[in-house]
Amino acid sequence: SNRPYIVGNWKMHGTRAMLAEARAIDRAAERLLKVEVALAPPFTLIHATRKEANLIGIGAQDVHPADGGAHTGDISAAMVKDAGAGFTIVGHSERRANHGETNALVKEKADAVIAAGMSVIVCVGETEAERDSGKAEGVVGDQLMASMPTGEGVAEKVTVAYEPVWAIGTGRTPTVEDIGAMHRHIRKILGSLYGEEGAEVRILYGGSVKPENASELLAADDVGGALVGGASLTAESFLGIIMAAT
Ligand code: 13P
Repeated sequence: SNRPYIVGNWKMHGTRAMLAEARAIDRAAERLLKVEVALAPPFTLIHATRKEANLIGIGAQDVHPADGGAHTGDISAAMVKDAGAGFTIVGHSERRANHGETNALVKEKADAVIAAGMSVIVCVGETEAERDSGKAEGVVGDQLMASMPTGEGVAEKVTVAYEPVWAIGTGRTPTVEDIGAMHRHIRKILGSLYGEEGAEVRILYGGSVKPENASELLAADDVGGALVGGASLTAESFLGIIMAAT
């Protein structure tokens, strides 16, 4: 799809009291058919959000790579799909940092999401130290080569989210030039991973996207949408970003 893809990642926020926000986003999304809108609430709200929202996509923020088994507290791809998820985010930097997730594990998760019949958003991004030492493109390239799902027809199920770690929740963002340069770099890697089909993969930007900066960030080279944290938590601010994408 050529429509901009705007995805809200609620992270560890949200009880049923927040379903009103999802409902309001869904109602407004009806009038915004030029944008593909999705929300990734916590596991506990996937089913309820799916029931509240008819138009927007609903997804999970993570899954365990196994089909099932003795994994106390974990959730499988089939389980989130059964709860109503149509996609899953994997490899978010908060999971890589807080749970020691490696590229190899992220790939296993991405493969499991696709095997379960969902699409997947794979997150990549460099730390501030990596950017300052000129390693940003190398790090992101390595992450992509080792954590993207592989297999026949996979490219059409995949979205990449480029989220520089230092821009998440900080109010700081790269310049549009830096975003464009990184997205062009990611596009090249997608070509080596998926051949011609790599051209169809959407690349989202994430990190301190707000209604005020969304139109500028979304206009950067090869930006196919945004992955939004804090500003997706209220319908008012998330819809401001969605408007900016139209
Ligand atoms: P913020 O929009 O809060 O910076 O978070 C970005 C993010 O990590 C989305 O996955």
